[in-house]
Amino acid sequence: MPSVPAYPLNDGSTIPGLGLGTYPMDDTEAEQAVDHALRLGYRLIDTATNYRNETGTGRGIARSGVPRDEIMVTTKLPGRDHGYEETLRSFEESRARLGLEYVDLYLIHWPLPRVDKYLDSWKAMVKLRADGLIRSVGVSNFTPAQIRRLQDETGVLPSVNQVELHPLLPQDELRAFHAGRNIVTESWSPLGRGSDLLDDPAIAAVAGNHGVSPAQVVLRWHTQLGAVPIPKSGDRGRQRENLDIFGFELSPEDIAAIDDRGHRRIGGDPDTHEEF
Ligand code: NDP
Repeated sequence: MPSVPAYPLNDGSTIPGLGLGTYPMDDTEAEQAVDHALRLGYRLIDTATNYRNETGTGRGIARSGVPRDEIMVTTKLPGRDHGYEETLRSFEESRARLGLEYVDLYLIHWPLPRVDKYLDSWKAMVKLRADGLIRSVGVSNFTPAQIRRLQDETGVLPSVNQVELHPLLPQDELRAFHAGRNIVTESWSPLGRGSDLLDDPAIAAVAGNHGVSPAQVVLRWHTQLGAVPIPKSGDRGRQRENLDIFGFELSPEDIAAIDDRGHRRIGGDPDTHEEF
Protein backbone atom coordinates (compact mmCIF):
# COMPACT_ATOMS: atom_id res chain seq x y z
CA MET A 1 0.00 0.00 0.00
CA PRO A 2 1.59 3.38 -0.95
CA SER A 3 2.34 5.54 2.08
CA VAL A 4 0.20 8.54 3.02
CA PRO A 5 1.70 11.88 1.91
CA ALA A 6 2.13 14.72 4.41
CA TYR A 7 1.18 18.34 3.65
CA PRO A 8 2.81 21.45 5.14
CA LEU A 9 0.84 23.54 7.63
CA ASN A 10 1.17 27.33 7.86
CA ASP A 11 2.81 26.96 11.32
CA GLY A 12 5.76 24.84 10.11
CA SER A 13 4.27 21.45 11.09
CA THR A 14 2.85 18.87 8.68
CA ILE A 15 -0.40 16.93 8.48
CA PRO A 16 -0.94 13.44 7.05
CA GLY A 17 -3.08 13.42 3.90
CA LEU A 18 -5.77 11.14 5.39
CA GLY A 19 -6.98 10.33 8.89
CA LEU A 20 -9.43 8.26 10.91
CA GLY A 21 -12.71 9.76 12.16
CA THR A 22 -14.06 8.37 15.42
CA TYR A 23 -17.61 9.70 15.71
CA PRO A 24 -19.89 8.02 16.92
CA MET A 25 -17.63 5.35 18.47
CA ASP A 26 -17.76 4.73 22.20
CA ASP A 27 -14.57 4.26 24.24
CA THR A 28 -14.38 0.52 23.63
CA GLU A 29 -14.87 0.79 19.89
CA ALA A 30 -12.52 3.78 19.61
CA GLU A 31 -9.75 1.90 21.43
CA GLN A 32 -9.97 -1.01 19.00
CA ALA A 33 -10.43 1.11 15.89
CA VAL A 34 -7.60 3.52 16.69
CA ASP A 35 -5.22 0.72 17.62
CA HIS A 36 -5.99 -1.13 14.39
CA ALA A 37 -5.83 1.98 12.20
CA LEU A 38 -2.44 2.99 13.58
CA ARG A 39 -1.08 -0.52 12.96
CA LEU A 40 -2.34 -0.27 9.36
CA GLY A 41 -0.51 2.99 8.77
CA TYR A 42 -2.98 5.76 9.68
CA ARG A 43 -1.13 8.64 11.36
CA LEU A 44 -3.92 11.19 11.86
CA ILE A 45 -6.68 10.55 14.41
CA ASP A 46 -9.76 12.74 14.88
CA THR A 47 -11.70 12.86 18.14
CA ALA A 48 -13.54 15.56 20.14
CA THR A 49 -14.65 16.20 23.69
CA ASN A 50 -18.24 15.81 22.52
CA TYR A 51 -17.62 12.36 21.00
CA ARG A 52 -17.02 11.12 24.55
CA ASN A 53 -14.37 8.70 23.31
CA GLU A 54 -11.13 10.56 24.10
CA THR A 55 -10.33 7.96 26.78
CA GLY A 56 -10.70 5.07 24.33
CA THR A 57 -8.81 6.99 21.66
CA GLY A 58 -5.90 7.54 24.05
CA ARG A 59 -5.91 3.86 25.01
CA GLY A 60 -5.84 2.85 21.35
CA ILE A 61 -2.85 5.11 20.74
CA ALA A 62 -0.98 3.59 23.67
CA ARG A 63 -1.93 0.03 22.71
CA SER A 64 -0.75 0.40 19.11
CA GLY A 65 2.88 0.82 20.12
CA VAL A 66 3.35 3.39 17.32
CA PRO A 67 5.80 6.08 18.52
CA ARG A 68 3.91 9.11 19.84
CA ASP A 69 5.85 11.56 17.67
CA GLU A 70 4.67 9.80 14.50
CA ILE A 71 0.98 10.39 15.30
CA MET A 72 -1.10 13.54 14.84
CA VAL A 73 -3.87 13.52 17.44
CA THR A 74 -6.74 15.97 16.99
CA THR A 75 -9.38 16.88 19.55
CA LYS A 76 -11.92 19.69 19.77
CA LEU A 77 -13.27 22.27 22.19
CA PRO A 78 -17.03 21.89 22.88
CA GLY A 79 -19.44 24.81 22.74
CA ARG A 80 -20.14 24.77 26.50
CA ASP A 81 -16.48 25.61 27.16
CA HIS A 82 -16.08 28.69 24.95
CA GLY A 83 -14.27 31.51 26.79
CA TYR A 84 -10.62 32.04 27.84
CA GLU A 85 -10.45 30.31 31.23
CA GLU A 86 -13.03 27.73 30.20
CA THR A 87 -10.89 26.73 27.22
CA LEU A 88 -7.75 26.31 29.35
CA ARG A 89 -9.69 24.05 31.72
CA SER A 90 -11.47 22.11 28.98
CA PHE A 91 -8.22 21.46 27.13
CA GLU A 92 -6.63 20.16 30.33
CA GLU A 93 -9.54 17.75 30.79
CA SER A 94 -9.19 16.51 27.20
CA ARG A 95 -5.47 16.05 27.62
CA ALA A 96 -6.02 14.02 30.81
CA ARG A 97 -8.64 11.80 29.16
CA LEU A 98 -6.34 11.21 26.19
CA GLY A 99 -3.45 10.50 28.54
CA LEU A 100 -1.10 12.61 26.42
CA GLU A 101 1.54 15.19 27.25
CA TYR A 102 0.54 17.31 24.28
CA VAL A 103 -2.15 17.43 21.61
CA ASP A 104 -1.03 17.87 18.01
CA LEU A 105 -4.07 19.71 16.70
CA TYR A 106 -6.74 21.41 18.81
CA LEU A 107 -9.84 22.76 17.07
CA ILE A 108 -12.78 24.97 18.08
CA HIS A 109 -15.55 22.51 17.19
CA TRP A 110 -18.21 25.06 16.12
CA PRO A 111 -18.01 28.89 16.05
CA LEU A 112 -21.35 29.55 17.82
CA PRO A 113 -21.59 33.15 16.54
CA ARG A 114 -24.59 33.92 18.76
CA VAL A 115 -22.54 33.12 21.87
CA ASP A 116 -19.65 35.15 20.41
CA LYS A 117 -16.85 33.80 22.60
CA TYR A 118 -14.74 31.95 20.04
CA LEU A 119 -12.20 34.77 19.97
CA ASP A 120 -11.49 34.33 23.71
CA SER A 121 -11.10 30.59 23.15
CA TRP A 122 -8.71 31.28 20.29
CA LYS A 123 -6.52 33.45 22.53
CA ALA A 124 -6.38 30.64 25.09
CA MET A 125 -5.40 28.15 22.39
CA VAL A 126 -2.61 30.43 21.17
CA LYS A 127 -1.31 30.53 24.76
CA LEU A 128 -1.50 26.73 25.04
CA ARG A 129 0.49 26.48 21.82
CA ALA A 130 3.11 28.87 23.20
CA ASP A 131 3.27 26.69 26.33
CA GLY A 132 4.00 23.63 24.17
CA LEU A 133 0.79 21.79 25.06
CA ILE A 134 -0.69 22.13 21.56
CA ARG A 135 1.40 21.81 18.40
CA SER A 136 -1.11 23.33 15.95
CA VAL A 137 -4.26 25.39 16.47
CA GLY A 138 -7.23 25.23 14.17
CA VAL A 139 -10.96 25.61 13.81
CA SER A 140 -13.91 23.63 12.54
CA ASN A 141 -17.01 24.85 10.75
CA PHE A 142 -15.67 28.42 10.55
CA THR A 143 -16.67 30.83 7.78
CA PRO A 144 -14.17 33.12 6.00
CA ALA A 145 -15.49 36.13 7.98
CA GLN A 146 -14.87 34.33 11.28
CA ILE A 147 -11.36 33.30 10.23
CA ARG A 148 -10.56 36.87 9.16
CA ARG A 149 -11.68 38.07 12.58
CA LEU A 150 -9.30 35.64 14.32
CA GLN A 151 -6.44 36.90 12.21
CA ASP A 152 -7.32 40.59 12.62
CA GLU A 153 -7.66 40.35 16.40
CA THR A 154 -4.75 38.00 17.22
CA GLY A 155 -2.49 37.86 14.15
CA VAL A 156 -2.75 34.05 14.25
CA LEU A 157 -4.37 32.16 11.42
CA PRO A 158 -5.76 28.66 11.96
CA SER A 159 -3.60 25.91 10.46
CA VAL A 160 -6.69 23.85 9.61
CA ASN A 161 -10.42 24.39 9.10
CA GLN A 162 -12.31 21.10 9.38
CA VAL A 163 -15.58 21.43 7.46
CA GLU A 164 -18.29 19.35 5.87
CA LEU A 165 -16.94 18.41 2.45
CA HIS A 166 -17.92 15.65 0.02
CA PRO A 167 -19.11 15.50 -3.60
CA LEU A 168 -22.59 16.66 -2.54
CA LEU A 169 -21.01 19.79 -1.01
CA PRO A 170 -17.70 20.57 -2.77
CA GLN A 171 -17.15 23.91 -0.96
CA ASP A 172 -15.30 25.57 -3.87
CA GLU A 173 -15.31 29.11 -2.43
CA LEU A 174 -14.30 28.08 1.06
CA ARG A 175 -11.46 25.91 -0.28
CA ALA A 176 -10.19 28.80 -2.41
CA PHE A 177 -10.24 31.06 0.66
CA HIS A 178 -8.23 28.48 2.62
CA ALA A 179 -5.75 27.98 -0.23
CA GLY A 180 -5.04 31.72 -0.32
CA ARG A 181 -3.94 31.56 3.34
CA ASN A 182 -2.25 28.14 3.41
CA ILE A 183 -5.01 26.81 5.66
CA VAL A 184 -5.47 23.07 5.17
CA THR A 185 -9.05 21.98 4.50
CA GLU A 186 -10.01 18.86 6.43
CA SER A 187 -13.14 17.07 5.19
CA TRP A 188 -15.69 15.76 7.66
CA SER A 189 -18.30 13.24 6.50
CA PRO A 190 -15.98 12.76 3.51
CA LEU A 191 -17.99 9.73 2.34
CA GLY A 192 -21.26 11.59 2.76
CA ARG A 193 -22.29 9.64 5.86
CA GLY A 194 -25.85 8.41 5.76
CA SER A 195 -26.50 9.67 2.21
CA ASP A 196 -26.74 7.61 -0.96
CA LEU A 197 -23.47 9.03 -2.32
CA LEU A 198 -21.63 5.70 -2.45
CA ASP A 199 -24.53 4.17 -4.44
CA ASP A 200 -24.37 6.83 -7.13
CA PRO A 201 -24.08 5.23 -10.62
CA ALA A 202 -21.65 7.89 -11.90
CA ILE A 203 -19.29 7.23 -9.00
CA ALA A 204 -19.69 3.47 -9.48
CA ALA A 205 -18.72 3.91 -13.15
CA VAL A 206 -15.52 5.79 -12.25
CA ALA A 207 -14.74 3.15 -9.63
CA GLY A 208 -15.22 0.37 -12.20
CA ASN A 209 -12.84 2.05 -14.64
CA HIS A 210 -10.09 2.23 -12.00
CA GLY A 211 -10.79 -1.16 -10.41
CA VAL A 212 -11.42 0.42 -7.00
CA SER A 213 -14.47 0.90 -4.74
CA PRO A 214 -16.82 3.93 -4.74
CA ALA A 215 -15.46 4.92 -1.32
CA GLN A 216 -11.90 4.91 -2.68
CA VAL A 217 -12.99 7.10 -5.61
CA VAL A 218 -14.59 9.61 -3.26
CA LEU A 219 -11.59 9.70 -0.91
CA ARG A 220 -9.22 10.08 -3.86
CA TRP A 221 -11.39 12.99 -5.06
CA HIS A 222 -10.73 14.75 -1.72
CA THR A 223 -7.00 14.15 -2.07
CA GLN A 224 -6.89 15.60 -5.56
CA LEU A 225 -8.73 18.70 -4.33
CA GLY A 226 -5.92 19.10 -1.80
CA ALA A 227 -8.21 18.31 1.16
CA VAL A 228 -7.57 15.87 4.01
CA PRO A 229 -10.44 13.39 4.44
CA ILE A 230 -11.03 11.72 7.82
CA PRO A 231 -13.35 8.79 7.01
CA LYS A 232 -14.78 6.95 9.99
CA SER A 233 -14.74 3.19 9.97
CA GLY A 234 -14.70 0.68 12.78
CA ASP A 235 -14.37 -2.14 10.26
CA ARG A 236 -10.87 -3.46 9.63
CA GLY A 237 -11.44 -4.16 5.94
CA ARG A 238 -12.94 -0.74 5.27
CA GLN A 239 -10.16 0.98 7.24
CA ARG A 240 -7.65 -0.71 4.95
CA GLU A 241 -9.65 0.13 1.84
CA ASN A 242 -9.96 3.80 2.84
CA LEU A 243 -6.22 4.13 3.34
CA ASP A 244 -5.39 2.59 -0.02
CA ILE A 245 -6.10 5.59 -2.26
CA PHE A 246 -2.63 6.82 -3.15
CA GLY A 247 -1.93 4.38 -6.00
CA PHE A 248 -4.31 5.69 -8.68
CA GLU A 249 -5.15 9.03 -10.26
CA LEU A 250 -8.55 10.46 -11.26
CA SER A 251 -8.71 12.30 -14.59
CA PRO A 252 -10.27 15.77 -14.91
CA GLU A 253 -13.28 14.04 -16.54
CA ASP A 254 -13.59 11.70 -13.55
CA ILE A 255 -13.47 14.68 -11.16
CA ALA A 256 -16.16 16.50 -13.13
CA ALA A 257 -18.40 13.40 -13.08
CA ILE A 258 -17.94 12.99 -9.32
CA ASP A 259 -18.84 16.46 -8.10
CA ASP A 260 -21.60 17.20 -10.59
CA ARG A 261 -24.45 16.58 -8.14
CA GLY A 262 -25.77 19.83 -6.70
CA HIS A 263 -25.16 21.10 -3.20
CA ARG A 264 -26.58 19.36 -0.17
CA ARG A 265 -25.53 19.69 3.45
CA ILE A 266 -25.71 16.63 5.68
CA GLY A 267 -24.77 18.40 8.91
CA GLY A 268 -25.38 21.78 10.52
CA ASP A 269 -25.03 25.22 8.95
CA PRO A 270 -22.03 26.97 10.60
CA ASP A 271 -23.88 30.30 10.78
CA THR A 272 -26.69 28.86 12.88
CA HIS A 273 -25.78 25.42 14.24
CA GLU A 274 -25.49 25.28 18.02
CA GLU A 275 -24.06 22.38 19.94
CA PHE A 276 -22.71 22.57 23.44
P1 NDP B 1 -18.14 9.45 6.86
O1 NDP B 1 -18.43 10.16 5.59
O2 NDP B 1 -16.74 9.17 7.26
O3 NDP B 1 -19.01 8.10 6.82
C1 NDP B 1 -18.92 7.14 7.83
C2 NDP B 1 -19.86 5.99 7.44
O4 NDP B 1 -19.38 5.38 6.23
C3 NDP B 1 -19.90 4.91 8.49
O5 NDP B 1 -21.22 4.44 8.55
C4 NDP B 1 -18.96 3.84 7.96
O6 NDP B 1 -19.38 2.56 8.40
C5 NDP B 1 -19.14 3.99 6.46
N1 NDP B 1 -17.93 3.63 5.70
C6 NDP B 1 -16.64 3.89 6.03
N2 NDP B 1 -15.81 3.42 5.08
C7 NDP B 1 -16.59 2.85 4.13
C8 NDP B 1 -16.30 2.19 2.91
N3 NDP B 1 -15.05 2.03 2.48
N4 NDP B 1 -17.35 1.71 2.18
C9 NDP B 1 -18.62 1.86 2.62
N5 NDP B 1 -18.95 2.49 3.76
C10 NDP B 1 -17.95 2.98 4.52
O7 NDP B 1 -18.91 10.28 7.99
P2 NDP B 1 -18.60 10.86 9.42
O8 NDP B 1 -19.73 11.77 9.70
O9 NDP B 1 -18.29 9.79 10.38
O10 NDP B 1 -17.31 11.80 9.23
C11 NDP B 1 -16.00 11.35 9.48
C12 NDP B 1 -15.44 11.97 10.73
O11 NDP B 1 -15.47 13.39 10.66
C13 NDP B 1 -16.24 11.67 12.00
O12 NDP B 1 -16.06 10.34 12.43
C14 NDP B 1 -15.67 12.72 12.92
O13 NDP B 1 -14.40 12.32 13.40
C15 NDP B 1 -15.56 13.92 11.97
N6 NDP B 1 -16.73 14.83 12.03
C16 NDP B 1 -16.52 16.13 12.40
C17 NDP B 1 -17.54 17.03 12.47
C18 NDP B 1 -17.27 18.44 12.88
O14 NDP B 1 -18.23 19.20 13.14
N7 NDP B 1 -16.02 18.85 12.98
C19 NDP B 1 -18.93 16.65 12.13
C20 NDP B 1 -19.06 15.28 11.71
C21 NDP B 1 -17.98 14.42 11.65
P3 NDP B 1 -18.39 1.52 9.15
O15 NDP B 1 -17.84 2.19 10.38
O16 NDP B 1 -19.28 0.37 9.47
O17 NDP B 1 -17.31 1.16 8.17
